[in-house]
Amino acid sequence: MTKPQSWEARADEYSLYGFTDLPSVASRGAVVLTHGEGPYVVDVNGRRYLDANSGLWNMVAGFDHKGLAEAAKAQYDRFPGYHAFFGRLSDQTVMLSEKLVEVSPFERGKVFYTNSGSEANDTMVKMLWFLHASEGNPQRRKILTRWNAYHGVTVVSASMTGKPYNEVFGLPLPGFIHLTCPHFWRYGEAGETEEQFTARLVRELEDTIRREGPDTIAGFFAEPVQGAGGVIPPSKGYFQAVLPILRKYGIPMIADEVITGFGRTGNTWGCQTYGFMPDAIISSKNLTAGLFPMGAVILGGDLADRVQAAVEKIEEFPHGFTASGHPVGCAIALKAIDVVMNEGLADNVKRLAPRLEEGLRAIMERSEHIGELRGVGFMWALEAVRDKATRTPFDGSLSVSERIANACTDLGLICRPLGQSIVLCPPFVLTEAQMDEIFDKLERALRKVFAEVA
Ligand code: PMP
Repeated sequence: MTKPQSWEARADEYSLYGFTDLPSVASRGAVVLTHGEGPYVVDVNGRRYLDANSGLWNMVAGFDHKGLAEAAKAQYDRFPGYHAFFGRLSDQTVMLSEKLVEVSPFERGKVFYTNSGSEANDTMVKMLWFLHASEGNPQRRKILTRWNAYHGVTVVSASMTGKPYNEVFGLPLPGFIHLTCPHFWRYGEAGETEEQFTARLVRELEDTIRREGPDTIAGFFAEPVQGAGGVIPPSKGYFQAVLPILRKYGIPMIADEVITGFGRTGNTWGCQTYGFMPDAIISSKNLTAGLFPMGAVILGGDLADRVQAAVEKIEEFPHGFTASGHPVGCAIALKAIDVVMNEGLADNVKRLAPRLEEGLRAIMERSEHIGELRGVGFMWALEAVRDKATRTPFDGSLSVSERIANACTDLGLICRPLGQSIVLCPPFVLTEAQMDEIFDKLERALRKVFAEVA
């Protein structure tokens, strides 16, 4: 057997690509990366790209943060691995749980670790099923989420995800119910105000709970801003109206803050930006600034008490992963929280978010084919439309957003196509000059592609 020669050919030969547009890779070749510098990544051919996606939303401190790498190395030298079963766990794990409760919006709480955001959502669902059964409500198993939600890819978290692509797996499982996505610009009806739209969605929530039976619902999960659905902030007053309905029927509210946690929206948590208090938070990605695969379920005090009581009844919670609370992951997370909150990264997001919004808004206003700019903090999407007035999308077969992303890549800028949108969620270390580089390259790419398809 002769091995293929180029990096791109070797990647194609041996990789089963996930979430990858195969025609793009077939015509352009994979981008094989070797290292990074600040918010830039560098490929095997020495080409630099400003990664305006922070990897997958997670590399918030950039790609060469020395302090984070040193924290990892120090912990690998000191105690390179352990679990959290049988009442044995590392000192780093204890310190991180303490820290997570301290920086959470909860006064008290408890933390459970996983290796990913998907597993953290699965863990939360199992915890709810376990809790309700223990409290004499084993029929409380249905999970409410929204269309365009992204909660992960494991069987349960994929069932929670509100995307049609999961049909190829025969998912969602029964009992996972998807409500209307709170995107007013796209789903608002003719003549409807944003407030009326929100009220309609809240009526839908209550009607659904009543139809299904309130005592069959285990929990409601929501991203404060839908991320992989295309950066969709909630419509006006959404969470303020949803929470009382959930409370009325005793349904726990879980905020999936895998993307929005640790500063992405301008505050530590997205629920703070949107002014609501969940019963638990799902965290991952930024938790370790992308340096270690780790997720966490952070239970607020009341839910923590109830789950703890349920565990005490049977004297054991039969759940956990080999690497739950991994000491190196925890040491990195402790350092990442410190870096983001105390080394000016979160402040940089706060300070530069208005400039980012302003620059993107100017691009939208200059373009005939950007219909909406939406986002908050350091997470934004520009939606391409054929006709701005009627909001008519481009024909899907034109793959407009993929073409824009490819044109950006050619210019040395990485951004992500999502539906008909282009998503930007830069690392928190971004400077003003680097932001200008994003504006310049993005606008050139948009002009090129719209000239081809319009
Ligand atoms: N929840 C949200 C909100 C996410 O954005 C993601 C990942 N993009 C997940 C869960 C799943 O996380 P992971 O890919 O680590 O399983």
